Amino acid sequence: MKYISEYRDAALVRGVIDEIRRTVTRPWTIMEICGGQTHAIVRHGIDQLLPPEIELVHGPGCPVCVTPLELIDKALAIASCPDVIFCSYGDMLRVPGSGRDLFSVKAAGGDVRVVYSPLDAVTLARQNPDKQVVFFAIGFETTAPPNVMSVLQARSFGLTNYSILVSHVRVPPAIRAILSSPANRVQGLLLAGHVCAVMGYHEYPPLSEQYKVPMVVTGFEPLDIVQGILEAVKLLEGGRAEVANAYPRTVTFEGNLPAQKVIAQIFEDCDRKWRGIGNIPMSGWRLRPEFDAFNAEKKFEVEAIQPEESPLCIAGLILQGLKKPHDCSAFGNQCKPEHPLGATMVSAEGACAAYYRYGRVNS
Ligand code: SF4
Repeated sequence: MKYISEYRDAALVRGVIDEIRRTVTRPWTIMEICGGQTHAIVRHGIDQLLPPEIELVHGPGCPVCVTPLELIDKALAIASCPDVIFCSYGDMLRVPGSGRDLFSVKAAGGDVRVVYSPLDAVTLARQNPDKQVVFFAIGFETTAPPNVMSVLQARSFGLTNYSILVSHVRVPPAIRAILSSPANRVQGLLLAGHVCAVMGYHEYPPLSEQYKVPMVVTGFEPLDIVQGILEAVKLLEGGRAEVANAYPRTVTFEGNLPAQKVIAQIFEDCDRKWRGIGNIPMSGWRLRPEFDAFNAEKKFEVEAIQPEESPLCIAGLILQGLKKPHDCSAFGNQCKPEHPLGATMVSAEGACAAYYRYGRVNS
């Protein structure tokens, strides 16, 4: 397939890894921000092919993993209401809240549906005027455009029975939180290519300069990832705290300006709690007050929920690059994909799920 098979060419990947081996002279710790990149790295064994000087640690870029427990519990409460159709992407259904998940709400008779786009949820709202349709709008900058479009579309149809439960998070404030932590180990960063496709990468040079950490916009195929690592190693070895773009076939410096404009029309910055990590100032987006009619939190008044996280789960440390999944005492025994204790064991982008799925249980 054009533009996919070329980027999975094993000989080309080995060639770039050889170049990394020739370039590196000392140990470096590099974080891939995105959970999609984590899965590609573990699935293809890229971390095991790299020279021993390079350690990859896994970042917080898994939207399902960082959605705060309070929001999951609110989703469970709303989905349990009569006359509600609760819509979500599939991997949110098994993410544990304090006591249960959306699947168990569905099993108990709740109308919980998997959709592939928030626009499908708008269609459901048009087809079911006697029901309240709620879409669980989680994600990073990447998923913001379709979520805001669903609100604009619902407004243009005059719908009063459509709302979104928003848990949007943003990458730059999370990077700032990681790099400013006294425990930080990250010396170089692979930025998430799809986030940068929407937002560009103009927000990152000041961060790179302030924390003296080079950053490389990186894609998701094996060749993209090793190319990103090579660029990061070159910047690290040269002592250059700069931002490079190793994904130019998709990403420009400015990003998608029409998408950024429509996001700014509907969302505003807010503090956001990240599951396992805690509050990160101005790291989220919420609906502007003029869109309160589409805000499920306002509509359903489910504010005062006190969540309880499993005491065994160290996902927060994993998401900050401070621990690996097999450092968790529950990994592979009390916590498995069939009975997860934390979101990172459920999500298609979670680091624990990647380690379990690709057999890193005993490494
Ligand atoms: S293995 Fe399970 S309990 Fe341990 S950190 Fe991962 S999700 Fe949490």
